[in-house]
Amino acid sequence: MSAILVPSLYVMSGVCAFAALHHGLAVMQRRVSQVHLLFATLCAVVMVYILVRAGAYQAQTVEALVALRKWEVVGVCLIYIIFPWFIAGFTGVRPRRFLLALTIFWSLILAANLILPYGAQFADLPTLTYFDLPWGERVVDLRVFQPSLVHKIALLAILAIMAFGVHASLDQYRRGLKSRARSLAWALGIFFSFILFNWAANWGIIDFIHLSEFGFLAMLVMMDLEMMRESRNDKRRMRDVLDHLPVAICLKDLRGRFQLINRGFETLFHVDDDAILGKTAFDTLPQDLARRFRIDENQAVETGEDVEREHVLDWNGAPHVYETHQFPLLRQDGTAYAVCGVYFDVTETRQKDEALHKFRRQIWHTDRVASTGAISASLAHEICQPLAAILNNAQAGLRFLDHDRVDLEEIREIFQDVVRDDKRAGTIINGLRAMLQQQETPYADVDLAQCIEEVLELLHGEMIRHGVDVERMLETHLIVRANKTQLQQVILNLTINALEAMAEQPAGERRLRIEATRTDGKAAVSISDSGVGIAEDMLDRIFEGFYTTKPQGLGVGLEVCRSIMESHHGSIWAEANPDRGATFRFSLPLAGGDAAPKGAAGA
Ligand code: ADP
Repeated sequence: MSAILVPSLYVMSGVCAFAALHHGLAVMQRRVSQVHLLFATLCAVVMVYILVRAGAYQAQTVEALVALRKWEVVGVCLIYIIFPWFIAGFTGVRPRRFLLALTIFWSLILAANLILPYGAQFADLPTLTYFDLPWGERVVDLRVFQPSLVHKIALLAILAIMAFGVHASLDQYRRGLKSRARSLAWALGIFFSFILFNWAANWGIIDFIHLSEFGFLAMLVMMDLEMMRESRNDKRRMRDVLDHLPVAICLKDLRGRFQLINRGFETLFHVDDDAILGKTAFDTLPQDLARRFRIDENQAVETGEDVEREHVLDWNGAPHVYETHQFPLLRQDGTAYAVCGVYFDVTETRQKDEALHKFRRQIWHTDRVASTGAISASLAHEICQPLAAILNNAQAGLRFLDHDRVDLEEIREIFQDVVRDDKRAGTIINGLRAMLQQQETPYADVDLAQCIEEVLELLHGEMIRHGVDVERMLETHLIVRANKTQLQQVILNLTINALEAMAEQPAGERRLRIEATRTDGKAAVSISDSGVGIAEDMLDRIFEGFYTTKPQGLGVGLEVCRSIMESHHGSIWAEANPDRGATFRFSLPLAGGDAAPKGAAGA
């Protein structure tokens, strides 16, 4: 007597145990589809089922056989519950009610099997008969010659599962997933052939033992092969997608060793896939680059969140701007197991932005020169006043000198007046020159109140000409680190916009209020007018380039103001006044604070 059947059943259960572990661990370690969990459970149940069958083949008493057959039926019921759900998860064909009905049906059979004295298979106590296998092995015969009613009904439910499997397989075929459809059809076909074989054995057509365990195993192997093939295909396709993306991507383990890089990464950093894998950035990239990327990666792993940055780094002797995104890949318990980096070389884009930005500033400057030209009539008047006063005082001084007794006190007062008037004319001319000059002034500590006063001084004549009431509330000692020319251009633009917005208002109702205060540790300036106002939905749009409502407008002023504010680490926005007009506000970090810009020259 050779023992082949039972040991081969043990080997088969070992195969199932391996598959169950393989898919179960994949679910636990990574975020793979839940289908793997169903498959792992199916494998585990088939494993137990095969072990029970191996035991039943060796039963010595009828009671032991009936008890083992009951457990065998428990296994079969569980397989028939899980298998349809697995097909649904695998194919995406999910007739929920049908699946629930099947689950309930097999659960009832399972319960009946446990309650009935001889289980679901036998109506009466079977007798132990033995069967000699062709290779000489003798086993207890497991055929069901007198099936119970429950056994017969259950056969119908097996046909329902088969029908569902065929339907799901056809659905895959129609959707172009031919390989998947084929594998499922093969798995079902093999499985069903074994079921047919069992029936034929039960009816005495074939004189052999049941072979359903081989059917289950063949089905599992088919599905496992298909899932592995799909996973390989997914990897290949993912690789192709990664290689065609116009960005550099890399995946590193927590020790910073490269696990995967795409072609974009190879091109951007001039490295080779084979040479870099398993090494760290410190072994393969310039040290400064590696150090900065490492800091971001550590932060991403520690916080569990994406880290986005822009780095300016020297690469091959030229500065490059890199936009980088680092994000951790997380296990289900939220801990990181790898970190992914996405890098763009935005040097060219930044250069274009800068060129465009410069171009707009030039246009804006031209516009400002034009508007400054337009107010030059009132400026001439402004300058004439102190000049005339100087002349009068000088003539008066000369006349005093002709007197016999020169009153020195009188002469001192005259000189003081001359100095004051000269300073006034000088301030106006300097202000005008600042507005017209193209070259940038360096960053310096700027007194905000004085800066605003100088602009208002320049626009003094305009205010009078337009009949505008100016109210100012300027806190002193508000020092910001700024490019004074740019800052004055912002104030000038906002003030001229306010004057233009009030042009249509009746005289006497044109009010301009300028405030400079210290708010939340920052310098905050507001310029408020009683003009036409701005609709709520336009408050953001007006800052977009080339948006204008004025016939002669260019629509770049506010955009340039925003970019100046951004380069000063500040912000600018507009608000609609509750009663009438609009308020423009900007805020800047105070000098000496961390956020104050340190640049030597303006942007
Ligand atoms: P421009 O003055 O050349 O139109 P700006 O960028 O300076 O360009 O302004 C854009 C638009 O914003 C203006 O055309 C106007 O519609 C609106 N705007 C700006 N300031 C005010 C204000 N104080 N009141 C009402 N609307 C304003």
